[in-house]
Amino acid sequence: GRVKAKFVVVAGNAYLGNLIPELSAKSMPCGTQVITTEPLSDEVAKSLLPQDYCVEDCNYLLDYYRLSGDNRLIFGGGVVYGARDPANIEAIIRPKLIKTFPQLKDVKIDYAWTGNFLLTLSRLPQVGRLGDNIYYSQGCSGHGVTYTHLAGKILAESLRGQAERFDAFASLPHYPFPGGELMRVPFTALGAWYYSLRDKLGF
Ligand SMILES: Cc1cc2nc3c(=O)[nH]c(=O)nc-3n(C[C@H](O)[C@H](O)[C@H](O)COP(=O)(O)OP(=O)(O)OC[C@H]3O[C@@H](n4cnc5c(N)ncnc54)[C@H](O)[C@@H]3O)c2cc1C
Repeated sequence: GRVKAKFVVVAGNAYLGNLIPELSAKSMPCGTQVITTEPLSDEVAKSLLPQDYCVEDCNYLLDYYRLSGDNRLIFGGGVVYGARDPANIEAIIRPKLIKTFPQLKDVKIDYAWTGNFLLTLSRLPQVGRLGDNIYYSQGCSGHGVTYTHLAGKILAESLRGQAERFDAFASLPHYPFPGGELMRVPFTALGAWYYSLRDKLGF
């Protein structure tokens, strides 16, 4: 079909594919996986996260986890550069979970899923314009839950003619990933491998 609009906001992020080559050239879709345990007893749940905080560890390839309302541990981690869906999510994430919480070695995993996020070389989000009336916002590099609220506001301000804050974000440089379409995934994976080695060696 056809839609007439004064403005278009492109915000398809990691799911946009190659729809707009100019945008895909400067970003990389990545997958991250999450598993959820069976419900745990109060005692076990409290022993894992006594304050019931949400945690994101400080490794380069980080893990993140929290308890659900029904005492399951929701545990995510890992990055699949290029966002190919792994066949067996539990096989990838379970060892990470057991490393952090060895007491859960026999726990049953009830759910597993993959989600995609969009990485930029600088890890800063990208907003800007393509021509006069096509706007884009993408590439929060895994940290968009809070930032996208602001992005929505500054996009709306700009569409209404008040572009000062939008232009401040749009002036950030957007770099292409080295290696072009063919080599950017292996190059980035190689770089990430180096930094995850540093994590393992404790640098
Ligand atoms: C497992 C996982 C855990 C995460 N954890 C955190 C966290 O703890 N904290 C944090 O800050 N961030 C986290 N993130 C990242 C965060 O989810 C993203 O940064 C944020 O969702 C990006 O928002 P967005 O609106 O730019 O894109 P998205 O939320 O990805 O939305 C893009 C939308 O565009 C739609 N779309 C795509 N193409 C088209 C098209 N052609 N036509 C129409 N619609 C289209 C998609 O269906 C989707 O609904 C996590 C991401 C994942 C996957």
